[in-house]
Amino acid sequence: MEKENELGTEKKVIYSCEEHVEYAMEEIINEKGTPPILKRLESGKLSTKACAYCGKLSVYIVSNEYSHTKCG
Ligand SMILES: [Zn+2]
Repeated sequence: MEKENELGTEKKVIYSCEEHVEYAMEEIINEKGTPPILKRLESGKLSTKACAYCGKLSVYIVSNEYSHTKCG
């Protein structure tokens, strides 16, 4: 049987504050097994998204590496 990797490539995005960015990274690694991509929100550009862990305004967006194996 061939392993269908594509099933596991769904993109996951976690918004996180400064304190919980490590939690978010770990969650990506544990869940997706891929290195997380860390993106800092620009200062002055206020996020309306809350941290997934404490509910404060998020400072970072942590996502998994998106696989481009699919056409499109
Ligand atoms: Zn937080």
